[in-house]
Amino acid sequence: METKKKILKKKAVIDTKYCAACGVCVKSCPFGAITIRNGVVAEIDEARCVGCGKCAKACVASVIDIVKKEEVK
Ligand code: SF4
Ligand code: SF4
Repeated sequence: METKKKILKKKAVIDTKYCAACGVCVKSCPFGAITIRNGVVAEIDEARCVGCGKCAKACVASVIDIVKKEEVK
């Protein structure tokens, strides 16, 4: 029988309105989860992000938040 398990994980979210596309967060992420899309805004690959918070601490504009993400597996 298949069992469903709820897993709570964290992830980073960017308030893109205020992102300066400086690239500091890209360098800070140990998992390579952040890229600068079209040279104008940072984007997080949810599949790679583990919610460690390094990018949030590194962000020069303080526009990254770590939030809880609920996953059903
Ligand atoms: S929270 Fe950690 S893993 Fe996720 S994007 Fe930021 S630095 Fe990378
Ligand atoms: S460090 Fe902050 S301002 Fe700079 S690209 Fe990343 S999210 Fe944008």
